[in-house]
Amino acid sequence: MRNRTVKQTLTQAIFIGLLGLVFQPVSAQQDPVQVQILPQTNIQVSSNELNQGDVVLVTLTTTKKITPSLLWRDKEIPLAANTEKTKWFGFLEASLGAHPGKNKALVRLKTGSRVKTSAMEIAIRAKDYGLRNLTLPKGWDELDGPTLERVQKETSIVAAVWSRPLAEQLWQGPFIRPVSGEISGTFGVKSIINNQPRSPHSGVDLRGDIGTPILAVNRGQVVLSADHFFTGNTVIIDHGGHIQSMYFHMDRVGVESGQMVAKGDVIGWVGATGRATGPHLHFGLRVNHTTVDPLHFIQLSEQIAEIEGNSGVRSQNSE
Ligand SMILES: [Zn+2]
Repeated sequence: MRNRTVKQTLTQAIFIGLLGLVFQPVSAQQDPVQVQILPQTNIQVSSNELNQGDVVLVTLTTTKKITPSLLWRDKEIPLAANTEKTKWFGFLEASLGAHPGKNKALVRLKTGSRVKTSAMEIAIRAKDYGLRNLTLPKGWDELDGPTLERVQKETSIVAAVWSRPLAEQLWQGPFIRPVSGEISGTFGVKSIINNQPRSPHSGVDLRGDIGTPILAVNRGQVVLSADHFFTGNTVIIDHGGHIQSMYFHMDRVGVESGQMVAKGDVIGWVGATGRATGPHLHFGLRVNHTTVDPLHFIQLSEQIAEIEGNSGVRSQNSE
């Protein structure tokens, strides 16, 4: 009922002008919101609220031949489609440091020579991911000359990975967890080490014994397979469509740079290489050049399977 009311109100608003839409969920916040932009063409957003360090899923459903585009905070967001091009998916992200407040997402649809634009309002909310105080031996982070040189070189290698041109969509269907172990270090938590504030945790630490297989969270191309000082044996996979996953501290790496991997492929084994206090997998995810909560992203991506049912987006799972 709620969706219908919103739909009716907003359908009227569309006719006022090219840019006539405002999202107005009727009831509680955090509800998915649905809007009809053209006959037989709907947009659904998983939530009208977006936490810092999180993502929302935009789903466009249509029976028409359309070319959609999605703009979020003035950036073009890649849209992934099912094989029939009747469903389109895009993720809107907010960084850990994103300013709280209302932001605009624009959906633009091209049908023939016509362009229809619809604006949606999504509020970024501040989120407190907590604080951890650590005391480490004095001088723990003092690096000698050659090590410093090595770290600088590795930093520029990773920076080059992030500035690679956008790969086409390689991922398909929901993302999976790389290991099943429980969380030993949450995403976004701020560390204070010896009373000095450090940058927030850029991923999630997952428990695992040395040698536990690590799975590729979706289809993609390995863009980095290297042994780095801080992150140890490191793999970065580009899933295309501005989604990249990172795996640190591996005991061994099972893939090479440039290699294509399917969802569920073993890419390495859990270890404690680099600067790690014990065996675990540090797992990170970047969406639209932004570090986000990887486990929440995976959870959200499962909605794609629900929306799709058994058709459309093909799963590349090796099972
Ligand atoms: Zn970590």
